Amino acid sequence: MRKNVDFLVIGSGIAGLTFAIKVAKHGKVCIVTKSKMDDTATSWAQGGIAAVMYTPDSFEKHIQDTIIAGDGLCNEEVVRFTINESSERIKELIKWGTKFDKTTTGRYDLAKEGGHSEYRVLHHKDSTGREIENKLLEQVKKHPNIEILENHFTIDIITQHHLGVEVNSRTEGITCFGAFVMNPRTRLVDTILSKITLIATGGAGNVYSNTTNPLISTGDGIAMVYRAKGAVENMEFIQFHPTALYLPEEKPAFLITEAMRGFGAVLKTRDGKEFMHKYDARLSLAPRDIVARAIDNELKLSGEDYLCLDCRHLNKNELINHFPTIYAKCLSIGIDISKDMIPVVPAAHYTCGGIKVDEFGRSSIVNLFASGECAATGLHGAKPDCTGQTDWLPTHCLNRLFFLTGPVHRPSARYRQ
Ligand SMILES: Cc1cc2nc3c(=O)[nH]c(=O)nc-3n(C[C@H](O)[C@H](O)[C@H](O)COP(=O)(O)OP(=O)(O)OC[C@H]3O[C@@H](n4cnc5c(N)ncnc54)[C@H](O)[C@@H]3O)c2cc1C
Repeated sequence: MRKNVDFLVIGSGIAGLTFAIKVAKHGKVCIVTKSKMDDTATSWAQGGIAAVMYTPDSFEKHIQDTIIAGDGLCNEEVVRFTINESSERIKELIKWGTKFDKTTTGRYDLAKEGGHSEYRVLHHKDSTGREIENKLLEQVKKHPNIEILENHFTIDIITQHHLGVEVNSRTEGITCFGAFVMNPRTRLVDTILSKITLIATGGAGNVYSNTTNPLISTGDGIAMVYRAKGAVENMEFIQFHPTALYLPEEKPAFLITEAMRGFGAVLKTRDGKEFMHKYDARLSLAPRDIVARAIDNELKLSGEDYLCLDCRHLNKNELINHFPTIYAKCLSIGIDISKDMIPVVPAAHYTCGGIKVDEFGRSSIVNLFASGECAATGLHGAKPDCTGQTDWLPTHCLNRLFFLTGPVHRPSARYRQ
């Protein structure tokens, strides 16, 4: 089967859905997604989204926190415009129906996470991503210009290579014409031709045996661009989240959000001793790479398999109210987090590298854009060289799309070697 659309969107997480909603007023949009439409890393996000909302926070403080957490390897230009737009993008999510928690005074209940000098993380209890995914899907489903095809696995993007032209990584003007997609009903490969294609296929956490990522996070879009001879970079920059629930028989690993440490939970050894003072003055709220390395080091020193997160000193009702999903998950394996310490280990969490794009999401392939976790913008550390890109990129810009994560961090030196 052959289909023609104006915009082909590969992936139904926050990046793909946001793009689809925005461009639908310009033409026909087709979203293809390889599993159920809400089977995304987005649905799993717990802690929330960092954005500048109120004083004493400021864009400049958030920018500096991000650059520090990126260990000086961020692309400052990208950091600046992403953070300067943060409040506007949050307003957009709210306009589309997302409900972030508020305090009794009506202000947003902002949380603090590692590497942040201010309270700035908007959240919906501990299931922020699920709330966002559901509300974006509601918008997409009711839009007459958007079609969404579930269980449609994209195999490859189409370029002139498929018309018999030899293409290599030095070929100028490699152009994307759409994608080959597996149709689950006919079991045949459909050709979807599009004027613009967006890859929003998420991260590649499942390359690692211990990851917080859902099974769909296999780096497909990054691999497609690599096969099409497009630019991919910084794939060695993987963020390890310090606190995944230690449950070796369970894959993927269940995340214990960093917001819990922001709420007062403390990292301890199995025999209840604090250790973060040996590594960083910010203790349990140091940036993720520092905390993950500290845990790794402690595990090597002790020979234990896990360390612990202690919430026992926190108010039980508030703890359950803020973290109902984590409370229920731990209880299901016999851990009452108000009485027992939570066993934790680091796990691969976020792919900082990916498809090389500029600040407008434009890849090195004409008419191909990438957004979300599959894209490497330089926001998260490891600085891409964007010079000279505009020569071969289309002059029109669709919109600026980034999932506003908090500062994410360079991996340990060990992983960079
Ligand atoms: C447990 C967990 C907690 C997190 N918590 C937070 C948080 O609190 N704050 C924060 O900022 N970030 C958090 N993150 C990171 C964040 O959720 C992701 O970076 C973000 O949701 C990625 O969005 P995305 O749209 O790029 O990709 P995803 O949401 O992963 O969507 C990818 C989409 O692409 C589709 N796809 C993939 N390959 C193909 C293919 N070959 N063909 C067709 N479709 C394909 C998938 O089916 C899926 O629909 C968390 C991540 C995890 C795993």
